[in-house]
Amino acid sequence: MPPSDARIPLPAPRSTPYGILRGAPFTGDAALPSEAEVVIIGGGILGAVTALNLAKRNIPVVLCEKAEIGCEASSRAFGWVSEIMVDTLKQPMTQLAKRMWDDLHAEAGETGFRRHGVLQLAETPEELEGLSAWLESCSGTVSDTRLVTASQVRERLPTASRDFAGGLLCESDGSAEPVLATAAIAQAARRAGARIVTGCAVRGLNLAAGRIAGVYTEKGYIKTSMVLCAANAWSRLFCGNHGVDVPQIYAILSMGRTGVTDGPVGAGGVDAWAWRRQIDGSYALGGVNGIAAPVTRDAIKLYNRFKPLMEMMGSGGKVDFGRDAWNDLMLARRWNPAKRSPFERLRVLAGKTRAEARTSLASNARVFPEMAGARVEETWSGPLTLTPDNMPILGAVSAIPGFHLATGCTYGITWAPAIGKLMADIMTGRPTDFDAAPYRLERFFDGSPPIVTY
Ligand SMILES: Cc1cc2nc3c(=O)[nH]c(=O)nc-3n(C[C@H](O)[C@H](O)[C@H](O)COP(=O)(O)OP(=O)(O)OC[C@H]3O[C@@H](n4cnc5c(N)ncnc54)[C@H](O)[C@@H]3O)c2cc1C
Repeated sequence: MPPSDARIPLPAPRSTPYGILRGAPFTGDAALPSEAEVVIIGGGILGAVTALNLAKRNIPVVLCEKAEIGCEASSRAFGWVSEIMVDTLKQPMTQLAKRMWDDLHAEAGETGFRRHGVLQLAETPEELEGLSAWLESCSGTVSDTRLVTASQVRERLPTASRDFAGGLLCESDGSAEPVLATAAIAQAARRAGARIVTGCAVRGLNLAAGRIAGVYTEKGYIKTSMVLCAANAWSRLFCGNHGVDVPQIYAILSMGRTGVTDGPVGAGGVDAWAWRRQIDGSYALGGVNGIAAPVTRDAIKLYNRFKPLMEMMGSGGKVDFGRDAWNDLMLARRWNPAKRSPFERLRVLAGKTRAEARTSLASNARVFPEMAGARVEETWSGPLTLTPDNMPILGAVSAIPGFHLATGCTYGITWAPAIGKLMADIMTGRPTDFDAAPYRLERFFDGSPPIVTY
């Protein structure tokens, strides 16, 4: 891995037939295979890393992406790979993923992965108490996260214009570059033998006697008996057309990027504003102030199920009745899977970028004088999916033999290596590295007590 202070250029946003996209360009396979052992729906980081894991086991796998590799959440993320403030229930997966990131980076090429440390700051003693309570609740499950004092924060951020009450520092945390990682992993999957077809929406499943017999795509039919839906913000719509209820909604999170500038090391921040030094020397800037929840039909329908999570998360985000809610309203909920689908109508779900994508720079610059002269060079937004218990949905779907889900991740960049291996283990009948039962879809319907996790 190059030294963490070496500056490596990153690809600029590109104009494409699907609009302006972030992320490195990717050329996939021109022809759609007529048959495969596994078909993966969605070329975000989870689809790509699962394809890599399956291909390495010599499983014939085809990944279909409706637009471009990484075009939705995976290229629009902040990029933190972090264990901080992740619930103890999700720590086994988080810890495994953190360990696996080094190997994934080595295998895929430049994903931008660096362990530069993440610092969650506390502005007040009360906030520090909250961070301390989380650390205590995770005792024994996290790696090297520790509580740091005001003077230790000062040591790490010597130019900060103000003092903080303290914070949580995890030096083995880091980040990957969202504009590089998914395309690099998808290329590694192709080298290992996976077929990857872009501009190819999967319209639906063909079921025979209740089992998967194949998938209909806009480029033709693929005979298969096993499917992984890694469609993230689209999973509920896709599954709903086959009678599978996936309790998932999405919010739109807006972010910005400065030009190359000096400033704080690594990544960190408070809930409202945060920074991440990218490998090209510029800063990605964000924070929960940039979250807006479009009032979609699903958000209304699932309101009661999500109420406890929203209460836990507090009042950072805003409700949005604008264009994103309207776009959602225009999408059909039911269609003939052999015919044109909603996935071809709205190719890239990016959401409306909010003003907070720009104002985060001002919040950061109030603390870091080096950023005062910086400009916002780019703003963007993307869909962040949520489930009622804030746990992803991972595993086989019992209602449709052969059908699998990997969706609903708030921390999918962090978890990607572990989820890719988990899904490959499940689909090939191997033992899993950690207990995947808490992630099964059926927990929402089988009488399991409802929980809410950090
Ligand atoms: C602004 C923002 C900041 C974030 N910051 C972080 C962070 O710092 N750290 C972290 O760990 N996580 C972060 N996340 C979350 C992380 O980005 C996601 O959890 C992760 O990218 C999810 O990957 P995915 O593969 O499930 O989804 P996506 O990347 O959304 O991929 C799903 C793909 O499926 C395709 N698709 C959908 N339906 C079909 C269909 N029918 N046929 C074919 N293709 C289809 C879509 O086009 C899309 O490309 C952030 C997310 C956002 C939006």
